[in-house]
Amino acid sequence: MRNHNPVARFYSLAPTRTRAIEAKCAECMGCTKDHLEKGFKKEIRNCTALSCALYFFRPYQISEKIPPQ
Ligand code: SF4
Repeated sequence: MRNHNPVARFYSLAPTRTRAIEAKCAECMGCTKDHLEKGFKKEIRNCTALSCALYFFRPYQISEKIPPQ
């Protein structure tokens, strides 16, 4: 069964860039290995921290927000 906690998933599976970004954004919204903050996916989607290096790479966003390559 898939682990729905991005922080726990990062520490329990082989580390990848995607898992690292998912875990960092989840931690930013208050999640830990043992705790999922209610509504964290929506908060990451609605993140307004344009100055954050992960802003354009954060998970759960609507694809139109990703700038063209
Ligand atoms: S992109 Fe937003 S949610 Fe993700 S780490 Fe940066 S500030 Fe936090």
